[in-house]
Amino acid sequence: MKVSFLGGIGEVGRAAVLVETRDARILLDYGVKPSEPEPLFPGHISPKDLDAVVITHAHLDHSGATPLLMLNGGVKVYATDMTFKLSDILLRDFLKLSGYYIPYEVLEVEELLRRGIRVNYGDTIRVKDAEITFLDAGHIPGSVQVLVNADKTLLYTGDYSTRKTRLLSGAKYVPRDVDAIVTESTYALTEHPRRTDLEKDFINNVIEVTDLGGRVLVPAFAVARSQEIMCILEAHGVKESVYLDGMAVKVLDLFLESREYVQGYQLLYSASKHVIRVNDRKKRKKAAEGQAVIISPAGMLKGGPAAYYLERIYDDPYSGIFLVSFQVPGTPGARLLEEGRITVKGEDVEVKARVKQFLFSAHSGRSELRSYLRGLNPGTKVFMIHGEPDACRDLAEYARNELGLDAVIPEKHHKYEI
Ligand SMILES: [Zn+2]
Ligand SMILES: [Zn+2]
Repeated sequence: MKVSFLGGIGEVGRAAVLVETRDARILLDYGVKPSEPEPLFPGHISPKDLDAVVITHAHLDHSGATPLLMLNGGVKVYATDMTFKLSDILLRDFLKLSGYYIPYEVLEVEELLRRGIRVNYGDTIRVKDAEITFLDAGHIPGSVQVLVNADKTLLYTGDYSTRKTRLLSGAKYVPRDVDAIVTESTYALTEHPRRTDLEKDFINNVIEVTDLGGRVLVPAFAVARSQEIMCILEAHGVKESVYLDGMAVKVLDLFLESREYVQGYQLLYSASKHVIRVNDRKKRKKAAEGQAVIISPAGMLKGGPAAYYLERIYDDPYSGIFLVSFQVPGTPGARLLEEGRITVKGEDVEVKARVKQFLFSAHSGRSELRSYLRGLNPGTKVFMIHGEPDACRDLAEYARNELGLDAVIPEKHHKYEI
């Protein structure tokens, strides 16, 4: 078995892992990297040179380049039904909203949806001499880890979380007798706070603001994070009006139709009864004016209806803007945190509202990433990808020095024999 990497080396973005067995060539993920002025794509590969493509989950850094493989081929693409449906939403949005040139069109996205082969958690499929098994990754609804079994066994973790959240119960598979593992390293340097403490802190802040008649804007990713926040508010019995806006509404409805992908379905269902879906301008205006919690994309304040609310809330010292994820440097969200300033209608202004960050995460943190590798036999090959160079290095050193694993930070254009 051989493995090579067409992207995701020392970076979070454009994941693309090529696994070659004696007879089969299997591509695991084919994502893009959001970047200015243009998104970055992984290395080229022709669909006619592939026997199968697996999309681990719908995030664009894993799915964003897959429509390219539809251009002139009959390659088989495997993913869960949820991943295909979420990819449809995210890929169309990517095409519509980004001002830059993307080398495929809606036709290819439709083709992907039409031709995609649906798999479930626990399924095993056969591709020539290889068996591919799909395991719940606990990252977002529909996300999988991939086990490739031929003369050797390789696990690709994709993005994963072993921690329970309100929506998901977390990845359960523990790798033991595998010959190689390709692991994400996003938070290898970051210890996540305890979930219960984080929730409490978030809820206390929400209550402090709303009790004084203020508004709380929660800019959040449309997929999973917005719905997770809804569930947290519901679980803590927050009584204020909760508005949900933008693409998050569409995704909520998709989750409600697909019970098998949401382990916290009951909580989500009851939260959905209390949430007010913003679907016209009048409601949006009302949401912005009242004493309420507003959950809205974009998670880093780059576009989306969150920008509308931000303009109306930023100069109110009684209101709050609560960011609920990591903010990529260079985004408006990162600037708000660092400088307390934003741009409104082309003007640079000071933010008077209470600004806070709560680091909810759908990834494994430092301890989880480390303990995931602990059951492996000494000498097992471990490839660190999907992380900044320092993060990949840190996890590799730990794997090498503490666990005796054969840790590799892969290089471009290099094929590794397992
Ligand atoms: Zn992801
Ligand atoms: Zn990712």
